[in-house]
Amino acid sequence: MGCLESKLCDDFTVENKPDPQTTVHTTDHPHYVRDPTSTAQKCIVSSQENKQNGKIVVGLYAYAGAHADDLQFKKGEKLVVLEEHGEWWKAKSLETNREGFIPCNYVAQADTMETEEWFFRSITRKDAERQLLAPANKPGAFLIRESETSEGYSLSIRDAGPKGLDIVRHYKIRKLDNGGLYISPKISFPDIGKMIKHYQQKADGLCRKLGNPCAKPKAQKPWDKDAWEIPKDSIKMVKKLGAGQFGEVWMAFYNNTTKVAVKTLKPGTMTVQAFLDEANVMKTLQHERLVRLYAVVTKTQPIYIITEFMANGSLLDFLKTDMGCKIQLPKLIDFSAQIAEGMAYIEKKHYIHRDLRAANVLVSESLLCKIADFGLARVIEDDEYSPRDGAKFPIKWTAPEAIHYGSFTIKSDMWSFGVLLYEIITYGKMPYPGKYNTDIVTALSLIQRGYRMPQPVNCPSELYNIMLSCWKDKPQDRPTFDYLQSILDDFYTATEAQYQEQS
Ligand code: ADP
Ligand code: MG
Repeated sequence: MGCLESKLCDDFTVENKPDPQTTVHTTDHPHYVRDPTSTAQKCIVSSQENKQNGKIVVGLYAYAGAHADDLQFKKGEKLVVLEEHGEWWKAKSLETNREGFIPCNYVAQADTMETEEWFFRSITRKDAERQLLAPANKPGAFLIRESETSEGYSLSIRDAGPKGLDIVRHYKIRKLDNGGLYISPKISFPDIGKMIKHYQQKADGLCRKLGNPCAKPKAQKPWDKDAWEIPKDSIKMVKKLGAGQFGEVWMAFYNNTTKVAVKTLKPGTMTVQAFLDEANVMKTLQHERLVRLYAVVTKTQPIYIITEFMANGSLLDFLKTDMGCKIQLPKLIDFSAQIAEGMAYIEKKHYIHRDLRAANVLVSESLLCKIADFGLARVIEDDEYSPRDGAKFPIKWTAPEAIHYGSFTIKSDMWSFGVLLYEIITYGKMPYPGKYNTDIVTALSLIQRGYRMPQPVNCPSELYNIMLSCWKDKPQDRPTFDYLQSILDDFYTATEAQYQEQS
């Protein structure tokens, strides 16, 4: 970073890290700034309707309706929200007066910034960086988001960085007592829309002129309300994606419209009741960094597990592709940070994954990681899936106390996370190369004598030290995922000098 950023710091608040000292302590922030293009007439209608019924929203995309009780609407059509529950809201069209259910992510609150292409509302600083650095964007791409550390907003811009590694800079948008908004006190604006227009004309002290709004992934229609145990014939298998120890995974369509992944379980892998008990917990675990469990088919064998489809398959396979093997260190660290984030959610929910490894991390179309197959290992009843037999058991990923006493905890997940870091940094190499495979006696005695995998050649010492901390003998000495997420999120910033020496 260095001189450019410190120069900017004279005039601006460059929001590099959430910093409590830069928090704007105002209580009179508007919740949103009115879209400057909206007419006074529209605002009157909105506020009157708003008081009587609910909030007014506007269609961001057309929605054709998929169920009898859905409300169809056009892009730009105004609707009043009658009931908000979950991802499907009940609404009434202000054009047709018809009522029905709408997918809430297809609409935005009318006459607010929510309808703007550049507004990303509650996205985190880290996710803003991930989205801006995605291949769909170029330097100058920008977005506005709610600040993580204060009530105001922040501007995030993609800037060209050294050696083709673009970086993202963050600016806090501050508020004047008279309601004006500014980044530099030299010039203030009545609203964010006007501020953006100004900085699209010239950089005027920012790292660069604003270009196009950050590309937004098209909203996915939420899963049907109440579709949990679904009929087998609502699923059309299209393409086999892979096979694991306990069955196959297929790309499929649900109701001919929604693309999903279907895992078929070999009969006898688990009892239907045990699976359903666990699946009922798994479906409540919903997070951007977890592969979403949508539905199940358990009335007929084989059991189907219907989940979110992940276009780039497993992280293990992806790292070995032409695209994957060219990924540079900061992105590898970011993958690790994303997985730590998903695991921090599992940790917060007091759940345990039990089978964390690169094959159980999946990669989306926009190269984001999500954790899959959490909790499933607990219900497997196959005799060969036991540390004693070992034929199907992931010994190389499993903590010694879990192998020994069956003591699976979030701390044994942390051991596996260390091995997963090794897989990531080596672009998918098999851990413990040349060492034991399924011989559990050799495995345990090696680990118990203190053997740990050596530092891979391209692995920064800071990352290797994290791996070693995951492999501490005593489970309680291993870190939390919450802590590792914060270290990995800021890893690149904290060890930038070292990275530059290496690359
Ligand atoms: P394993 O975890 O041992 O690879 P699985 O049966 O869980 O075995 O998965 C087999 C393969 O199917 C994975 O390696 C991956 O390539 C693919 N796969 C699994 N789930 C999905 C999904 N949701 N979307 C896309 N591909 C998937
Ligand atoms: Mg799997």
